[in-house]
Amino acid sequence: MTALRSANYVLYSSPSMTSSSGWSITSDNSSLIGSDDIWHDHSYNSGTVTQKADCTTDGVRTYTCSQCGATKTEAISATGHTPSAAVTETGNDGKVYSVVYCSTCGDELGRTVIADELVNNSTVNKTTVTAGTNVTITSSVEGGTAPYYYAYYYKRSTNTAWKTLGTEFGTNSSVAFAPTAEAYFDIKVIVKDADGNTAEKLFSVQAVAELPLTNVSVVGRTSVNLGTAIPHDRKGSRRNFSIYLFLLLQEKHKYKLEALG
Ligand SMILES: [Zn+2]
Ligand SMILES: [Zn+2]
Repeated sequence: MTALRSANYVLYSSPSMTSSSGWSITSDNSSLIGSDDIWHDHSYNSGTVTQKADCTTDGVRTYTCSQCGATKTEAISATGHTPSAAVTETGNDGKVYSVVYCSTCGDELGRTVIADELVNNSTVNKTTVTAGTNVTITSSVEGGTAPYYYAYYYKRSTNTAWKTLGTEFGTNSSVAFAPTAEAYFDIKVIVKDADGNTAEKLFSVQAVAELPLTNVSVVGRTSVNLGTAIPHDRKGSRRNFSIYLFLLLQEKHKYKLEALG
């Protein structure tokens, strides 16, 4: 038995073996006589991409033999992502992020928090006020980037033009507003951070001639021996209120105060 080797085949034959199909083996078994159509080393072309590689998935290149059409395949390595320049965006959680996307497939490749969203937590100390007395507006900010600047505005609710209170976008975190008429007023506070982001908050304040009467009287003690005086302070929310009814039940721990306007 003799073996003939090629890149693609190992042919075993006996000395007497001949072929009627176009090829034969020399009598010394040293070589094969025949047509390339039957016996050849494949001559592959340079191949074509039959499946494109993308950022994360290997592709396939297919080579075809120019003589017999046989094919073989080779993997094309995944390209990996191509990071684009970082962009700034606000996430659903309100935080500001620096985000890097792949310029090829759009996948998000990285995200870092730059700053929390600027939140305006400003307050007013009262929403009903006697005309001519102060409402104190106090700014309070969360997130964003310090330093912060504040702007305060007011207008009658029925008007459209805002008027500025104090310095616009100054550093005063508190300002007083005294409505001069009995009316509803709108107050607007805008906070601005070092990056120029702004956050707005609106309030409605009612200025009245007189505050509704509320009883803010106090007693100095709620337990006392019979016959002993109880220190007490009769107070109402109006500037003028004239009638007090002070009723102490002779029962320990119980008292009742009423102020009548
Ligand atoms: Zn071939
Ligand atoms: Zn990609």
